[in-house]
Amino acid sequence: MSSPQFPRLLQEARRIAKDVAAPAAEAVDRDARVPHEAVAALREGRLLSAAVPAAFGGAGLSLLELGKLCHALAQGCASSAMVLAMHTIQVGCVARHAGGSAFFADVLRTLVAEQALLASMTSEAGTFGDTRRSICAIEPGDADGFKLGKDATTGSYNAQADAILVTARRDAAAAPGDQVLAYVKRGDATLAQVGSWDTLGMRGTCSPGFRLDAAAPRAQILPAAFADISAQTMVPYSHVLWAALWAGIAADAHARAASFVRGQARKSPGTTPPTALRLAELSVRLQAMKHHWQQVAHEFDALSDIEQLGRIGWSLKFNALKTDAAERAPEIVHGALQIVGILGYRNDTPFSLGRHYRDALSAALMVSNDRIAAQSANLLLVFKDDQE
Ligand SMILES: Cc1cc2nc3c(=O)[nH]c(=O)nc-3n(C[C@H](O)[C@H](O)[C@H](O)COP(=O)(O)OP(=O)(O)OC[C@H]3O[C@@H](n4cnc5c(N)ncnc54)[C@H](O)[C@@H]3O)c2cc1C
Repeated sequence: MSSPQFPRLLQEARRIAKDVAAPAAEAVDRDARVPHEAVAALREGRLLSAAVPAAFGGAGLSLLELGKLCHALAQGCASSAMVLAMHTIQVGCVARHAGGSAFFADVLRTLVAEQALLASMTSEAGTFGDTRRSICAIEPGDADGFKLGKDATTGSYNAQADAILVTARRDAAAAPGDQVLAYVKRGDATLAQVGSWDTLGMRGTCSPGFRLDAAAPRAQILPAAFADISAQTMVPYSHVLWAALWAGIAADAHARAASFVRGQARKSPGTTPPTALRLAELSVRLQAMKHHWQQVAHEFDALSDIEQLGRIGWSLKFNALKTDAAERAPEIVHGALQIVGILGYRNDTPFSLGRHYRDALSAALMVSNDRIAAQSANLLLVFKDDQE
């Protein structure tokens, strides 16, 4: 199951995190700008094709391996890791749902050659964070083409992406949940930014609202229904890769606390500082977080029949991972701050935790934890099989 390219790619992700993303993270956060140094390094290191199957020339990494890349990068800069995660989710959707499409086979081969960057546009004004409903619809275009206009509330690095995967109703007569996923290349669309992206955290994702107006051939619509793409790939990939990167934020906060405690211990040899006990407690929480996302990724990778992913047990598993990781990440950063104290509260020390804190707070909002919990609550009313 393991890709032969994984060790090199993981080493590269760690190097980019330490030498490229971390040194720029403060400026990226301060200026709310795209982490272009990290994106360029990801391209150069060929990490953007990590999820492309080997049959198309990519590295063909498993979900567990892809999660480890995001986890490593998040320890240097969470925004950079979110760019990698969101791109990888889109690649997964294309790779796993292209069917026999010649157009999408070409997309994957070109992506490997050119290391194109893919973004996502599922959010929409009026659907209130529900990715499984659209207002906008695919309209007839020229000859075998389509037209699409969409008002998105939040679109990470949409202005920088080479292509955006956009959800829409199948046609003007379709119900809100009867959606498709369209591949809109930069040259297919005009993109007008609506509002700004001046947020508490994840500032480097540059995710303001956008008005998109696109026209493209129908071959650029993925053949599978978005209902299946969402259940079988978008939700599993999102929840695992997000959990992995949020765990990366927590791991870096923990590492800063551990470094602080070791410094205290060096100052008074022979005695264990009281903060060491808190660090031990924090390590337990970090380990639980790590094991949770890795176990779910492992189970996903072991599954041979992707139809199984439509089952309630799997939905509950992915939902539980997302909401749990989104709660644990800021809690662990908070715990690290209690250990480090004022040196973590300040923005100008090697132990600063402000950015980690603010970035981690986005987790519960990035598809609202309450929305996901409400979905799980409904599923649990009919879920009987706890053997899955
Ligand atoms: C850093 C970041 C990057 C993002 N990037 C992208 C991107 O690239 N592309 C994209 O399309 N989107 C992106 N998003 C948007 C994201 O996917 C969600 O659509 C968006 O965060 C939801 O916005 P909301 O809080 O207004 O929506 P809602 O989910 O409607 O939540 C609003 C409020 O309603 C409450 N609520 C909602 N449903 C329920 C319920 N059933 N029960 C109880 N309470 C409920 C919530 O708790 C919340 O308080 C990004 C978001 C973030 C934070």
